[in-house]
Amino acid sequence: MVQFFCPSCWEEVAEASSKCPYCGVEIESFWDRRDFVEKLIQALRHPESQTPVRAAWLLGQLGDPRAVGPLVDTVRRTTDVFLGRAVVEALGRIDSDEARVFLLTLIDHPVRMIADEAQKAVNHEGLDGFSGSRSVDQETSGESYD
Ligand SMILES: [Zn+2]
Repeated sequence: MVQFFCPSCWEEVAEASSKCPYCGVEIESFWDRRDFVEKLIQALRHPESQTPVRAAWLLGQLGDPRAVGPLVDTVRRTTDVFLGRAVVEALGRIDSDEARVFLLTLIDHPVRMIADEAQKAVNHEGLDGFSGSRSVDQETSGESYD
C-alpha cells in the first residue's frame, strides 16, 4: 500500500484522489501553491510527532531544494527516530548535491534505522514506490497524542 497524504490537512488519502475527502481541498492545485514549501518547513517543528513526519514526506514528494537545509537541521536536532528516518528518506528523494553529501555523513549514524535509511537513499534503493514495510512502523509509532 502506497501512503499518500492530503497536502492541506495531511490526512491519509488514496493516491488517486483529486479532492480530499477530509477537508475538501483540490489536491492537484494545492501542490502548486507557492507558500506550500514554507508551510511544510514550519511544520517540521510541530510538537505533535506525526505532523513533522508527514511534512517531511510531503517535502520529499515536492523535491524542492529549499527544504534541504531545514531537513538537515531536523535530523540533527530530533530524538525521534521515525522523524529522522522520514527526513532521511525525503532527502533521498530531493537528491540535490547538498542532500547527498549530508546523507553520506549519516551512514555511520548511531541510530541503526537512520543509518540504514541513509545507506538506502545513497544507493537509490527503495526510492521508487514506497515499500509496504512502512505501514508496520506506522502502526507501532501510533497515533496517540501524548
Ligand atoms: Zn485534506
